Amino acid sequence: MKRHWVYTFILGCGLVGFLAMGCNNIEGSDTEEGGNTGGTGGEGGGGGGGGGGGVLPGDASVLEVLEQAAEQLAKGAAEVSLSADNHFVFRRTTEGNVTVEELLVDGRVVGHQEHSGNTTVWKRDRDMDGFMEWEATIYRSENPNEQRMVILTYSKSTRQPEQRESYTRSGDIIHVRREIPASGGGWALSKEFDTTPNQPSVVNGPSPGIDGTCTAPQASQLKDLMQSAIQEGIKCMESKLPAEAAEISELVAKRGIELKCEDLPPPLVAEINWWDALPTRHLPNKSPVEITIDPSRLFPNSPQKIKLVLYHELLHAIRGVHDLSDIADSSKVNDLDPVYACSSMCFDSNPTQCNCAKCLDTKVCDPRCSDYNSNCNSAYSRCPCPVGSNAGKWFDTEAQCRVACPTGTACFMHSICYPADRSC
Ligand SMILES: [Zn+2]
Repeated sequence: MKRHWVYTFILGCGLVGFLAMGCNNIEGSDTEEGGNTGGTGGEGGGGGGGGGGGVLPGDASVLEVLEQAAEQLAKGAAEVSLSADNHFVFRRTTEGNVTVEELLVDGRVVGHQEHSGNTTVWKRDRDMDGFMEWEATIYRSENPNEQRMVILTYSKSTRQPEQRESYTRSGDIIHVRREIPASGGGWALSKEFDTTPNQPSVVNGPSPGIDGTCTAPQASQLKDLMQSAIQEGIKCMESKLPAEAAEISELVAKRGIELKCEDLPPPLVAEINWWDALPTRHLPNKSPVEITIDPSRLFPNSPQKIKLVLYHELLHAIRGVHDLSDIADSSKVNDLDPVYACSSMCFDSNPTQCNCAKCLDTKVCDPRCSDYNSNCNSAYSRCPCPVGSNAGKWFDTEAQCRVACPTGTACFMHSICYPADRSC
């Protein structure tokens, strides 16, 4: 049923694009294979121009650099620059059946992926202190029911594991178990929930879906806004969160993005196939990251809001899934959910220090957040009891939470309100 319509997007300088429209639903063009450039958007074999990637000037835009990096990687380059000033570098080596990919910021390795058979081990040093505090082991086979991921997070001070998260896929459900070290050794369950391979974005109230068709002008606008979102989002994050700005750059250059128009269930405006965006041995079969939008809900928004939505989706690839208890209250979501917080910080008109603090996992008085509006609540508190009407609910203050959160035996071990304390 789904016809695939892909074309390579070309910037002015004739380089192979990283952005493909995979719209099975573009008016008047859904029967074509290939497109305006005749490229396939996949293997990067098209293009022909570009001349093998000379050195770009220091004022080259983020997009120009990523376009060039995408082209060089498609040609098999072992090392590429992902920023005009060479702050971000990606390099890779293959020996036998093992491919190692490294991401560097100013010469420091902040990301390390080792692909061997169906298994990828992904280590990250997001705060760039020289210690990889995050380590995921991702196992993927063709059978979705045999795909899983385990993430270990290490304490920066003791360097011992402080959380283990396991993601086990069964069809279109991914079961998440979060565990913390048990007092007597081993692990104790702290939270479990189900999520999905697609991670949503909701910005509008429900409105009727039409048929998921993008008009040709909408498809063109979508590409332009995706490019602007990448450019502005990376610029927004590069000084505050350089390792993550580099990760987004790596993802865009290495995998590319495929945009699709579809009729999504209300109230979704867009979604990303987050699970398939996880690192995998993708070469030589480059697999773009898929972002799907519902045109009937996306396009009524301002261009700025559309960029926010598109960047939100991209952020899922490095920030993971939504915890539903963090996004249940739309008035608090930009302060409690990291994906919402970062997209708000970079694209909302008046972001707060609370958005910034959540995005950066820091306090509101962090100097990196000083440019933002200080008028916000940094003292939310969550009821961790797994039962009752207030289970998992966030309150404005710890005092309110203590009053409302039950303390009976069903809440044993879960009765202390959990602060999202970003105050200084
Ligand atoms: Zn989302």
